[in-house]
Amino acid sequence: MNGIRQNIAKIRQRIETACHKSGRNLADIKLLLATKTVSPDRIQIALETGETLIAENKVQELKEKYSALQSLPHTKHFIGHLQSNKINDLLRCDVACLHSLDRLSLAEKLQKRLTATNRTLDVLIQVNTSKEDSKFGLPPERTLDFVRQVSAYDRLQVKGLMTIGLFSAEADRIRPCFQMLRQLQEQIRAAEIPNVRMDELSMGMSGDMDIAIEEGATILRIGTAIFGARPLPDQYYWNEHPNG
Ligand SMILES: *Cc1c(COP(=O)(O)O)cnc(C)c1O
Repeated sequence: MNGIRQNIAKIRQRIETACHKSGRNLADIKLLLATKTVSPDRIQIALETGETLIAENKVQELKEKYSALQSLPHTKHFIGHLQSNKINDLLRCDVACLHSLDRLSLAEKLQKRLTATNRTLDVLIQVNTSKEDSKFGLPPERTLDFVRQVSAYDRLQVKGLMTIGLFSAEADRIRPCFQMLRQLQEQIRAAEIPNVRMDELSMGMSGDMDIAIEEGATILRIGTAIFGARPLPDQYYWNEHPNG
């Protein structure tokens, strides 16, 4: 349990070091705790250190932990693949930002639901920068067009882009994924699309956060390095229902 506090301190230190190295401003980087498989009492320990941002990647888990966490001040993001039939549940759990918008059918259904409940939702567009079949997200070359189309849905507030880097131990192969996301951000900014902001780059996990910071990340999604290893490999948590 104690480990969580120490791990967060280590991560904060790593962020500082990477910022120094790349001349980035510490204030421009948000730490998002990836809490899948982590129990509410352990999440509470993390929140009590002063962290405020947590993220789940399955709606079922979001629902299960909702009431246990309700009394603790925090903000919730959603970083998993979202099936349309789970939209209502997601919105009921007060999710502030969806990191995985990757298809128009989902945008359309979110817009309908948000209109009916008279609210808005921050979204990031998920891009498949590693071209691995196993990952969700738009092909990079379709991202600009997609953002243009999403901009028509006024209940969705596009804030930036998200990607999962290549699974690799080699920095030389991971870095281009993050560079690509940064280039897309610049390309989309230059297009000056109304109702679209490109402030956020959600990239970097426990294994590649230092590279992500060097390449411009503003949101780091960190699980393992804070809460320890999960019972199953990542593919299990990500690959359930492609295109579902
Ligand atoms: C679990 C998860 C993370 C965190 O990964 P770690 O390697 O445990 O830091 C980041 N992004 C997504 C989408 C995740 O599902």
